[in-house]
Amino acid sequence: IAGALVFIRFGGPPFEPDQIRLAEFITGHVATLYWHDRLVAKIANLEAERRLDRLQEDFIATISHELLTPLGFIKGYATTLLREDTSWDDDTRREFLSIIDEEADRLHELIENLMDSSRLQAGTLKMSFQPIRLDAFLKDVTMRATSRLEKMKVELDLQEAAFQIVADPTRLAQVFDNLLTNANKYAPDTPINICLKKENEMALISVQDHGQGIAPEHLDNIFKRFYRVPTPNTNVRGTGLGLFICRQIVRAHGGEIWVESTLGKGTTFFIRLPATQSNAENIISLRESN
Ligand code: ADP
Repeated sequence: IAGALVFIRFGGPPFEPDQIRLAEFITGHVATLYWHDRLVAKIANLEAERRLDRLQEDFIATISHELLTPLGFIKGYATTLLREDTSWDDDTRREFLSIIDEEADRLHELIENLMDSSRLQAGTLKMSFQPIRLDAFLKDVTMRATSRLEKMKVELDLQEAAFQIVADPTRLAQVFDNLLTNANKYAPDTPINICLKKENEMALISVQDHGQGIAPEHLDNIFKRFYRVPTPNTNVRGTGLGLFICRQIVRAHGGEIWVESTLGKGTTFFIRLPATQSNAENIISLRESN
């Protein structure tokens, strides 16, 4: 028995057999509806569990592959260098060592990304807010990116100079580093335009490339954890964590990030951040109260 339906008549004549049958009929129907609802909830739970299992399997497959690839390079080149039956000239040795160095950096970045993404998911990523000038900040981020990614050409259009926001500079820089690294990966050899303007007391920053673009059916998904647009090009490596981390960081600043893209023409990421001191203070007190 899952429950009882009680019919009460105060002070009236006793219930007639017909009325009792009607009550039983109503109760029977209520019970059927009740069991049906429980069954639907149970099925939904089972489906959610199955989705979670699938997600975990995908996660393990992606992560193992992403961890094993750089590790394979490191092991392979280190073993080669250690072989006693062969001697390597200085240039070759240097080349092998720089591959080991790059792959170790990649491994480090991957593990950091994984840790950030679980901290963001759990809401335990620490933010340290301070006032920053967005124009100077964007110049700095761009300079670092172009010296890291030598072939990349970035054009800065700072329509709103001396624009101040309250932000965690390290975390916000991580967002732009990721957008610029992606532009370099998915739209190589195309110029990148970064534009900063003011819109209703908010800072609106766009990062535009002129690459292959993203098909409309993937646009809603690219900010999800581990989502990567399927491509036959296996040279471009990644985990699908970058944009998920970007969105969480921007949201922690009280802002928004979204994307617009046209196939064959390019992709633009937009970031809107609250510019006024009061908004940012609200975020800080929100964080502290958490
Ligand atoms: P990752 O680059 O590690 O795969 P991200 O979360 O940074 O993960 O990006 C998710 C996906 O979005 C990428 O796999 C790629 O398919 C797509 N993407 C991101 N930036 C761009 C871009 N500028 N142009 C085209 N596709 C992009």
